[in-house]
Amino acid sequence: MEIKEVIDYLKAYDGPEIKLMEVCGTHTASIFKNGIRSLISPRIKLISGPGCPVCVTPTAYIDKCIEYAQKENHVLLTFGDMMKVPGTEGSLSDMKGKGAKVELMYSPFEAVEKAQADPGTTYVIAAVGFETTAPAYALMMQQALEKGVKNIRLVTALKTVIPALTWICENQKDIDGFICPGHVSVIIGSKPYEQLAEKYGKPFVVAGFEAEHILAVIYDIVRQLEKKEAKVKNLYTNAVRDEGNAKALAVLETYFKPGPAMWRGLGIIPDSGLYLKDDFYDGGSRGLVKDMELPEGCRCGDVIVGKINPDQCPMFKTQCSPMKPFGPCMVSAEGACGIWYRNK
Ligand code: SF4
Repeated sequence: MEIKEVIDYLKAYDGPEIKLMEVCGTHTASIFKNGIRSLISPRIKLISGPGCPVCVTPTAYIDKCIEYAQKENHVLLTFGDMMKVPGTEGSLSDMKGKGAKVELMYSPFEAVEKAQADPGTTYVIAAVGFETTAPAYALMMQQALEKGVKNIRLVTALKTVIPALTWICENQKDIDGFICPGHVSVIIGSKPYEQLAEKYGKPFVVAGFEAEHILAVIYDIVRQLEKKEAKVKNLYTNAVRDEGNAKALAVLETYFKPGPAMWRGLGIIPDSGLYLKDDFYDGGSRGLVKDMELPEGCRCGDVIVGKINPDQCPMFKTQCSPMKPFGPCMVSAEGACGIWYRNK
């Protein structure tokens, strides 16, 4: 089918209102960049999901990272997007300004080099992300063990997407279908969505990131809903295999095991966190459940689960902006509020 026919069909859609969740922040950004909403009927609503790992990281995790950064002979290594996420007393950026030892990393493997060069210091890595980034931490662990590096610890807030989607299916019953995350699906494949499609009777379709990929997936889900189907489909076949990336899954299995994890806005979800099997290298990642009260008026909790769009929050573009974020969804480049701010 030609893309023009797809757009014509979606533009003319006049059936019951449909709510589709795009789980991944990169899809949210692409939907804006390509003006996808202007190409489809207003009766097809696109809702952003919890696909920003930084936005769902709880306060207790930030506090733990800060604790290490302030500890003698310790250095906290993090990616830049964690720097402004608020903890109880402030962010990593605030604490760095007050002398805490926080260094930016561009790859987890830097930690091994730094730890080898400086054995008197313990390098603590803030490991945050979904299945997309988790294998890099597993490979880093492999490298640290092979080289006998002992002065490394991981504080993990690594999360897995299927338990979160299960939570959404249980609690947000008005979502009609899911645009499954492309990058995560490269690792896990399309098969894990089958249990969800079967149990909840909703379509799950894996999408790439170009405009025509996303439009094709929306079209597929709309057609499935019209035919009362609930299938899993992989429309990103040049990157995603049904069974995923076997090597990445094997290395994850070797070094990590699942456990309960706190998602800001959703609460504690069983088996949604990844924790090191080797306790020696774990920096106290379990039980970091305490979360901040969201600032009064901030509706991040509703944004993350797709109950509202960011522009329905009264703070959006008034008191809340990427320069002066009021809530966590405005902090990260992948956060729904930040993406809506930059594009709307
Ligand atoms: Fe929170 Fe700001 Fe988003 Fe409103 S716009 S939900 S205050 S992050």
